[in-house]
Amino acid sequence: MPPTFQPDRTVQPFLPFTRPSIDEATIEAVGAVLRSGWLTTGPRCQELEAALSARFGGRPVRLASSATATLELGLRLAGVGPGDEVITTPLTWVATGNVILQVGATPVLVDIDPLTRNIDLALLEAAITPRTKALLPVDLAGLPVDRVRLYEIAQRHQLRVIEDAAQSLGATWAGQEIGLGGDLVSFSFHANKNMTTAEGGCLVMNNEDEARRFERLRLQGVVRFPDGSADVEELGGKSNLTDVAAAIGLGQLKQLDGFNQRRIALARRYFELIPRDLGLELPRADFDNSNWHMFQPLLPRGVVRADFIARMREHGIGVGVHYPAMHLFTLYRKMGHFEGQFPHAEDVGQRTITLPLFPAMNDTDVDRVCAALRAVLS
Ligand SMILES: *Cc1c(COP(=O)(O)O)cnc(C)c1O
Repeated sequence: MPPTFQPDRTVQPFLPFTRPSIDEATIEAVGAVLRSGWLTTGPRCQELEAALSARFGGRPVRLASSATATLELGLRLAGVGPGDEVITTPLTWVATGNVILQVGATPVLVDIDPLTRNIDLALLEAAITPRTKALLPVDLAGLPVDRVRLYEIAQRHQLRVIEDAAQSLGATWAGQEIGLGGDLVSFSFHANKNMTTAEGGCLVMNNEDEARRFERLRLQGVVRFPDGSADVEELGGKSNLTDVAAAIGLGQLKQLDGFNQRRIALARRYFELIPRDLGLELPRADFDNSNWHMFQPLLPRGVVRADFIARMREHGIGVGVHYPAMHLFTLYRKMGHFEGQFPHAEDVGQRTITLPLFPAMNDTDVDRVCAALRAVLS
């Protein structure tokens, strides 16, 4: 008899560290846009902007093709340019630093607070100089930077704030959702974020003047007049969102609160079940503010992260790294940054691991991850 293929029923499917949840209604809505004859920026984008604005207390919200674009345009709206300094954290996705460079300004980095892993606000205030124009705080893993202290500092020194809230959509500070208050607030809709448009982002602004300028800057600087004529007074780029993407966003926004509740429940389960005798350092157990965009323990010192990730993969578990400290990238070293400059950010950057956490996960998936951690680390 020829050999037959016997699938091993004990092998479970690979569990990635994240995966977007797209329901059939959203797929249907994307199909409707594709059939409509209008693919790029149009009615679906306007609808999503209005829905987001309603969520943020009526503040103007505009979409762009990425949060990198909304951050860059936010810096331009805040008047940041060559000669200006912008203070930010080294423990972030490199987009945060790159946008400051893109507008010709200088990123001024200060270390993190090891408890929150967000920018240390005392160091931030100490780094303010007469050239400081703006602050660019990042809510790492969805845990917000202390907004009360942040805006006290910004007001005391008359600084603009561009909040990199890429990871904190639906998170709160002092009971208020991020985006409802503050200065300029940027959210990302990248596929890995708590809500997605595949690629995309939005900026929450203070007034219609800023929103109109944002519209110009995201599309070649073009101003259109009621008589059908147009003009370009200021250089703009090309970072408008498509209606195809906005249709995904409209479907996602309806589910966002449910997604975030599920993330919080899974994070709670991690805190219940994760083995405490393996030397992992757990993230701050914040269940008041965070949207639990990521669940990130730190590996015990001495464990080689690449080996750990490979062994977890053998157990069918995906592990991510978010993020190595930004100032140690070659581009940033060339600007004078060096190893040892920000010890807390470097320590977290070397030891951080992102464990699976996404809304479609089952409780038993958390159990699987915890069992694999025990097998790999003990
Ligand atoms: C995802 C992310 C960005 C960039 O968002 P894109 O939409 O991918 O451009 C910026 N900052 C942080 C902290 C992020 O996590």
